[in-house]
Amino acid sequence: MAFADLKKQSKLGSLTEKLVKEVEKMNTSSGSSDDRVWKLDCDKSGNGYAVIRFLPAPDGEDLPFVKVYSHAFQGPGGWLIDNCLTSINQKCPVCEHNSGLWNNGTDAGKEVARKQKRKLTYVSNIYVVKDPANPENEGKVFLFKYGKKIFDKLTEAMQPEFEDETPIDPFDFWQGANFKLKAKNVAGYRNYDSSEFARPDALLDDDDALEAIWKKQYSLAEFVSPDQFKTYEELKKRLSSVLGTKSAQIDEEVEDEDDVRGPVRDLDDGLRSELNNLQPTRRASAPVEDDDDDALSYFARLAED
Ligand SMILES: [Zn+2]
Repeated sequence: MAFADLKKQSKLGSLTEKLVKEVEKMNTSSGSSDDRVWKLDCDKSGNGYAVIRFLPAPDGEDLPFVKVYSHAFQGPGGWLIDNCLTSINQKCPVCEHNSGLWNNGTDAGKEVARKQKRKLTYVSNIYVVKDPANPENEGKVFLFKYGKKIFDKLTEAMQPEFEDETPIDPFDFWQGANFKLKAKNVAGYRNYDSSEFARPDALLDDDDALEAIWKKQYSLAEFVSPDQFKTYEELKKRLSSVLGTKSAQIDEEVEDEDDVRGPVRDLDDGLRSELNNLQPTRRASAPVEDDDDDALSYFARLAED
């Protein structure tokens, strides 16, 4: 394009228009573009219902679910939305920074540490049995991201609390059970307490059809493969830029201290677990029931925006 044309377009405003379109495209394609991931559609009052079946581990993998920690918060320098390195048993600079905040002895420090703490997401393959809001999803295999509340329902099914209940493997094609996913709005947060398993039964009475479903399942291991994570240094750099330069300097000092190793690090680890243990207490005392699912709906909203 000739320079004169550039100037002409500038006058017409078509450059801006083009830019706006590009930015819109970028925004809609980030996150929400993964059509492998199924989401529960809720109505305006926040109610949603679907019947799904959790599926076995995909071919060549050991587990029917994968666990991923992530951070999502806003600082003066923008949003930090990244997977937490503790998901793959590595040191995470964001978690370390939070330990420092937790350790600084102020309520404000603790509050910020809470805001920036890692959030837990599970990912499984599911088969959609019934999806009244989107019937076209029925009979298909999807990935499903869920929080601790739903994972607890899965473990309860595997290890029931009372003697009269029979343990089931909710991920089993033949001996498992459909899961009735029920969402409602409790004090402004999506709540899955009413969700429950149906009676145990084979998903389909046709092994060939079940095998075809199994072959369609997605890899879960890829969610925790190294390419899904920034390196420690990259994440640290991102944290500094999100927190702004002043915080970045403080961060450097923390790192210097860390280099001393020894007791400082041990203390950090202790505080980190304290930070993690904080969650249940907070959950029990706060009217907000479901922290992690809330984080998920936050991501869902972010993706929809
Ligand atoms: Zn972390």
